[in-house]
Amino acid sequence: MNFDFTDGQRLFAESVRRFAETHLAEGALRRAHDPRFPYDVAQLMAKQGLMGISLPEHDGGQGGTLMDAVIAIEQVAAVCPRSADVVQFGNFGPIRTFAEYGTEAQKKRWLGGLLAGRMVMSLGMTEPDAGSAVTDLKTSARQDGSQYVVTGSKVFSTFSPDAQVFLVYLRFGPGLGGIGSVLIERGTPGFTIGAPSEFMSGEEWCELHFADCRIPAENVLLGPGGFKKQMAGFNVERLGNTARALACGRYAFTAARDYAASREQFGRPLCEFQGLQWKFADMAIKLDAAQLLLYRAASHADNGLPSAYETAVAKAACNQAGFEVASEAVQIMGAVGFSRETLVEYCMRRTRGWMIAGGSVEILKNRIAEQVFERRFEQRKRIVAAAE
Ligand SMILES: Cc1cc2nc3c(=O)[nH]c(=O)nc-3n(C[C@H](O)[C@H](O)[C@H](O)COP(=O)(O)OP(=O)(O)OC[C@H]3O[C@@H](n4cnc5c(N)ncnc54)[C@H](O)[C@@H]3O)c2cc1C
Repeated sequence: MNFDFTDGQRLFAESVRRFAETHLAEGALRRAHDPRFPYDVAQLMAKQGLMGISLPEHDGGQGGTLMDAVIAIEQVAAVCPRSADVVQFGNFGPIRTFAEYGTEAQKKRWLGGLLAGRMVMSLGMTEPDAGSAVTDLKTSARQDGSQYVVTGSKVFSTFSPDAQVFLVYLRFGPGLGGIGSVLIERGTPGFTIGAPSEFMSGEEWCELHFADCRIPAENVLLGPGGFKKQMAGFNVERLGNTARALACGRYAFTAARDYAASREQFGRPLCEFQGLQWKFADMAIKLDAAQLLLYRAASHADNGLPSAYETAVAKAACNQAGFEVASEAVQIMGAVGFSRETLVEYCMRRTRGWMIAGGSVEILKNRIAEQVFERRFEQRKRIVAAAE
């Protein structure tokens, strides 16, 4: 067992850090407070080979590994936390599921623009009545000749104010086996996008409404029975949330460490107070432990998609570590940490969101408990038969 990066991974990490310091350090605070998708950063990253890192070269990707993409998130976030969202978009988000299962014609139409940083794709999975219980989704597609008619609505989709194309989970029929997904372009008649609402993190999302929205049959990504494949692709998205949560926690940790080393109160640097030293020790333990779980899930996934269990363990650990560390960093930096003039409060707000997004910590723990007891725990209310 070896806990170190390979020479290739170390060189890659160093080159991404140099790129980030050269192009992304300036403007990091401004970007964090701008909800619009940073197309300029996406186009720079495309030139640098940071989009589609783990996608095959014949799809326009870099032919690298998921672990390489995790390294890219860590190195970019250490300099500009907001720009790590672009690494997420170009490597872990719906683009990954799309590239995995899309037809050649679909990829020809959209993948090039997405990987070049000219277009954004948003994931429409959650509905007003289907959050954690995602299989309760009601948005439906009814076939009508060579078209499908889509009806329903979606909420909370990241990048929805900016996206040109949406990967929408919906049902072609009843039950789990009826769930699949389609691709719908902004501007399609019957598809309306509501005004942006804001999360605590500053990110914006819009309600998506489909009222007899007609799409060609070629826009089906995964037909009925596609749910399991979609969740396999979604584990990659989860790993990107995992990596960003940890990276934002580490950003806040580093800022607080530098602050505590130089800020003086009672005539001494803050770092000389044992009450704060122990906070840093606890923060370091949390970050290092969570990082090993992230690397386990990512490196085991290099031959395919990550395992659901290892992803759940890594995401729960990194979500908690990232938020707890960022919150403690705000405390250590006092009013300066609480101020919008630093990125520490931003990291705290962002890490809080990932405890809910993409599989909440509670839902992940349900999954972990099933592995522990080697049995399924039905979350749905048991329907008692009349005769019982
Ligand atoms: C920052 C952010 C970005 C997001 N981006 C997207 C996106 O791009 N696309 C998209 O489709 N959606 C997105 N979402 C929505 C996200 O997927 C949902 O918020 C998430 O699935 C939880 O659903 P919910 O908010 O409806 O909470 P609910 O499911 O109503 O849950 C409420 C609370 O109850 C807990 N809970 C629910 N069921 C159980 C259970 N069985 N056991 C224990 N606890 C339980 C939950 O953990 C949570 O704490 C985003 C959300 C956030 C916060």
